[in-house]
Amino acid sequence: MQSINPYTNQLIKTYQNHSETEVSQIINDVDLTFHEWKSTRFSFRKELMDKLAEKLEEQKEVLADLIVSEMGKVRKEAIGEIQKCAWVCRYYAEEAKGFLQNEEIKTEVSHSYVSFQPIGTVLAVMPWNFPFWQVFRFLAPALMAGNTGLLKHASNVPGCALAIEELVADAGFPKNVFRTLLIGGSEVKSVIENPKVKAVTLTGSTPAGKSVAVAAGFVLKKTVLELGGSDPYLILEDADVKEAAELYVASRLLNAGQSCIGAKRFIVMDSVYETFKDEFVKQMKAVSFGDPMDDGTTIGPLARVDLRDELHEQVEQSVEKGATVLCGGFVPKGENAFYPPTVLENVGEGMPAYHDELFGPVASLIKVKNIEEGVRIANDTVFGLGAGVFTKDLKVGQELAEKGLEAGCVFVNDFVKSDPRLPFGGIKESGYGRELSSFGIREFVNIKTVVVK
Ligand code: NAP
Repeated sequence: MQSINPYTNQLIKTYQNHSETEVSQIINDVDLTFHEWKSTRFSFRKELMDKLAEKLEEQKEVLADLIVSEMGKVRKEAIGEIQKCAWVCRYYAEEAKGFLQNEEIKTEVSHSYVSFQPIGTVLAVMPWNFPFWQVFRFLAPALMAGNTGLLKHASNVPGCALAIEELVADAGFPKNVFRTLLIGGSEVKSVIENPKVKAVTLTGSTPAGKSVAVAAGFVLKKTVLELGGSDPYLILEDADVKEAAELYVASRLLNAGQSCIGAKRFIVMDSVYETFKDEFVKQMKAVSFGDPMDDGTTIGPLARVDLRDELHEQVEQSVEKGATVLCGGFVPKGENAFYPPTVLENVGEGMPAYHDELFGPVASLIKVKNIEEGVRIANDTVFGLGAGVFTKDLKVGQELAEKGLEAGCVFVNDFVKSDPRLPFGGIKESGYGRELSSFGIREFVNIKTVVVK
């Protein structure tokens, strides 16, 4: 396994993959620990989880440097990512006990209730785009619920994977409560099949989600899948177009466009289309891309050269089929994985920019006659992760959010963001199950009915 800095294209470090025997030993150790960990008190877990939050904050500069070097996001975003991890640790440290309290249900017997019991060791297959946040939003609720965890991180961020394992141990958690497996995607199936692994969660692309679902389905293990998205945003006639453009450019360019909930398709009413387009393109063009360690840089390189090339191919294919490039749309000279902020218009059916996820700083503009056409196009996708509406009429916005747009999270007059207090997840090919909030912590527990006659 190799870490390659996408800004310099230099090899940072080579890591030895775990052998089959090592993987099996780690799973045994984690399973043994589960049988002790599950009986610990919430107050003890809380103490350790708060300590983990402290460790993250103490080491945020060093951890941010590690993130930047392995996947290229700008440093200030990497620091923000570590702080958000500390937030989710403190959130579940505080709330887990309440979320998992017994729930009394009145029946004709003397005592009937629901108890939420840990289920055991859960495998987390994670992506590189938020290499700490994606892991922590699984780790914090899982450990607080009394489960133990195994991390199979993306192969390009082994340094982050090992740093997380070390942080958990440094915070005082028993050594084998949370372990990293240095393995490739092809070895995930055999880990899922190990009887000591009780469930699996995957955050990543839809194809990876499907193969994990098949493997887990075959051995009947619970899965949560957080997959890709091509989030649509409706810009209505009465929208404050300047504000909409400002917010949506920020969303499209966050993490150099490599966010599952990045705003990707902008569906704009005819009457405000030209004004929105001018403002949006102006702001996309104003963005500087460069050294991710530099505070003045808005976007760094993409995480890998092959991912950048794949994105450019999607842009080229869309252009061949009739899309127009308003800015960007070229591969800059140099060894690194840069792609410039790009805006495409005349995006329509049959183009990758219309149907597929464009995982980089590329925005698709689509002009529509009215709200009905807008909603139809917004929903004309296999994905259903996030969506948004911009309008001054909050009643219309809320109605579209609740009943019109097919997605797991819809934001009115803002872009979709994850927040530990709110459930997060998708529908359709964006996956199933929820992370965060009380919903997230209840995914990997045995919702046990207890009846005492
Ligand atoms: P990816 O290629 O699907 O990889 C994600 C993880 O799955 C990696 O650990 C990868 O391991 C593993 N993997 C890949 N193929 C697998 C297979 N057939 N069986 C088992 N494991 C497999 O995705 P990515 O490129 O890292 O991340 C980008 C994708 O993640 C985008 O589609 C994005 O939208 C999505 N995402 C979704 C969310 C969400 O919450 N919904 C959040 C963030 C990202 P290797 O690295 O070893 O291949």
